[in-house]
Amino acid sequence: MLPDCIFCKIVAGQMDGKILYHDQEVTAFLDAHPVTPVHILIVPNKHIPSLNQLEEGDVALIGKMALIARQIAREQGVGKSGYRLVINTGADAGQSVLHLHLHLIAGQRLGSRPI
Ligand code: AMP
Ligand code: ZN
Repeated sequence: MLPDCIFCKIVAGQMDGKILYHDQEVTAFLDAHPVTPVHILIVPNKHIPSLNQLEEGDVALIGKMALIARQIAREQGVGKSGYRLVINTGADAGQSVLHLHLHLIAGQRLGSRPI
């Protein structure tokens, strides 16, 4: 845990926030500023700043994050209607929190272009 990291604090239960899923490796919670009717963040419990720091040993972890995102999409009722998973990495992508996170966005038509 990185002491000043907001997502590490959420994982540790030290911040307000609606947690939808939590196990020993992964936590999912509502985005504080949703851009779509469904906007959920899926994070590794351990502090990894971004995709750029992901290591070979984390392959199973990020795969698990994708499966949890799929499960949450189903639970939120958008599994069939559709959803998008986004990982912003670095400044040009607008990454604002330096703790790896998968955005699950859904609940409206997102268009066919990726951004
Ligand atoms: P990114 O721009 O990809 O780094 O995304 C960071 C996301 O974290 C944004 O969508 C923010 O709305 C969200 N966020 C920031 N602080 C919190 C918080 N305390 N609880 C939940 N979501 C947050
Ligand atoms: Zn962190």
